[in-house]
Amino acid sequence: DSIVSLKSMGKVFHTKNGDVKALDDINLDINRGEIFGIIGLSGAGKSTLVRCINYLEVPTEGDVYFEGKPLKNMGEYGIRSVRRNMGMIFQQFNLLSQRNILNNVCFPLEISGVPRAAAVKRAKELLKLVGLSDREKAYPAQLSGGQKQRVAIARAIATNPKLLLCDEATSALDPKTTKQILDLIKDINKNMGITVIVITHEMKVIESICDRVAIIENSRIAEMGRVEDIFANP
Ligand code: ADP
Ligand code: ADP
Repeated sequence: DSIVSLKSMGKVFHTKNGDVKALDDINLDINRGEIFGIIGLSGAGKSTLVRCINYLEVPTEGDVYFEGKPLKNMGEYGIRSVRRNMGMIFQQFNLLSQRNILNNVCFPLEISGVPRAAAVKRAKELLKLVGLSDREKAYPAQLSGGQKQRVAIARAIATNPKLLLCDEATSALDPKTTKQILDLIKDINKNMGITVIVITHEMKVIESICDRVAIIENSRIAEMGRVEDIFANP
């Protein structure tokens, strides 16, 4: 049962210096409930791939299917409802610097029309889940990188998405903090049943939490399979 399928998906950017083929003939089925890794060197096409999954970029060939439905021709309203089911976290956290962390987590709830009191209640539960109950009045600038990513995770799952997209989410963190964040992502996957897609250039991230992996090279999937089969030690 796949939650996201990419079928013959390609993306070409038209630039003033010519066309850049960022993705070519990508075929991928993400199973419901798994942690799927996408690894590749800088420039391989990883960010473009995640940005196509939530239609921040529109594929120029093929399409993305979410729960069996093609995103193409879904319209702005349909895309928005699909996006509500996809939380996203980034390398640079992308928190709102003018809002305290409670209000950062409230933000997606308010956008979805959740009344203020209910949004605050839910945000407090989420901050407890990520271990930051005592910092709800703090502003992002007052937090460590690991703490900022915890807030970003709380915000990303606030609306109960079915999928969490992680784009180099631990690349700005030290090894110890990386492990804590990966453990948190794994807990969320197991306990909340949220499917996770992890984009990274780091093998250790794939090895520590992913069930399956696709290796992206030069805009294409070079290899794909279970992590223990792809990275088996000889
Ligand atoms: P990665 O995330 O693996 O580093 P990207 O998806 O960012 O790779 O980039 C893949 C290729 O597409 C690169 O050659 C990059 O320069 C190009 N690219 C990405 N976004 C754009 C864009 N908006 N316009 C033009 N080229 C782009
Ligand atoms: P990352 O390495 O995390 O993918 P980048 O710095 O490559 O981040 O990209 C940041 C933004 O710039 C993205 O929106 C991406 O689409 C855009 N971008 C990347 N490469 C190019 C490019 N060659 N031309 C124009 N925009 C680009």
